[in-house]
Amino acid sequence: MSQREMIFVLIHAQLCAACRERLIASPETVLASHALTEEEKKTLGQLKAADFLTPERLVQAAAVSTAELAEYANHPVVRLRHL
Ligand SMILES: [Zn+2]
Repeated sequence: MSQREMIFVLIHAQLCAACRERLIASPETVLASHALTEEEKKTLGQLKAADFLTPERLVQAAAVSTAELAEYANHPVVRLRHL
């Protein structure tokens, strides 16, 4: 079970091209302000643009469950808070 914060970062990066590009280009800078474990930062830092192409690929690359992504997909914080 992943932390909610990690799921928020994943879903926002999926929805928002600007944040996704920043995350891929400089993960350490983008993730520094988020309450994530070192392991979560490592996982998120390894994501590539191709991993965001489909929800299935993202789930696999980030080692989260489809249910976890779906649970927060429509959460207002996910949509409104940029990374
Ligand atoms: Zn954003």
